[in-house]
Amino acid sequence: MTDTPPEPLDEDAAWTAFQARDRAADGRFVVAVKTTGIYCRPSCAARRPRREHVRFLNTPGAARAAGFRACLRCLPDDVTRDRQAVVAAIVLIDAADVPPSLDTLAAQVGYAPHHFHRLFKRATGVTPAAYARARRTARATQALAAEPSITAALYEAGYAAPSRFYADSDQRLGMAPGQWRRGGEGVAIAWTVAPSPMGPLLVAVTDRGLARIAFENDEHALVRALPAADIRPADAATRDRIARIVAATDVPDPVLAEPARRIAFIEAVSQALLGTG
Ligand SMILES: [Zn+2]
Repeated sequence: MTDTPPEPLDEDAAWTAFQARDRAADGRFVVAVKTTGIYCRPSCAARRPRREHVRFLNTPGAARAAGFRACLRCLPDDVTRDRQAVVAAIVLIDAADVPPSLDTLAAQVGYAPHHFHRLFKRATGVTPAAYARARRTARATQALAAEPSITAALYEAGYAAPSRFYADSDQRLGMAPGQWRRGGEGVAIAWTVAPSPMGPLLVAVTDRGLARIAFENDEHALVRALPAADIRPADAATRDRIARIVAATDVPDPVLAEPARRIAFIEAVSQALLGTG
């Protein structure tokens, strides 16, 4: 794990998050209270001090270096450990040929499964299993274009059994794998590009599911991947529905590395679009 240099703190935003006891801000900074010598996570349940008595610091370490002690109520040092556990779990999932089970994953990062499941979901917007599946779908899509047979593509992507892939593929390719290999022959695809906090997101749908969802500015890659499909801009109702779902999806924790954040965000949008998860 590498340390990234701390971002400069926006004190007004930090104060607003602290006032709101915003859990999403936990781990981004700590709040040190000059009158008590204690530092807290932003969501701490303790009574709010006056703003002039507060100092915002990037990390627990910085607060300790400035002479503050950790609050015994909100345990601000544990936030960092929680986020590091999620980062470590993502590395494990990314490196695994077969997605590890929740129990295995939680044990490897030193947490109880149920608790870890919640931490992971809060940081990424999706469960560990959903993140692993998204990783695998991305691999399968790439492998389908490159491998000489569908079976070879499945093994390349880490599927233990073809049936599992066929069960996923309707929704996750928007068509049967064979149709995908034939360039989307006979398939109607509607696409739009929706703005998102992480950049423009291309979403291409069929009547069966998602043909493509990727951080792209236009339809060119879609047309290249599926040259035989009937590809058209989505109608206004479809465009609006997609834009609303993308806008309502939480952005994954900035502490996570790319491409994990993008994969998690795409997976969360996909689940909302498909009505799963
Ligand atoms: Zn506290």
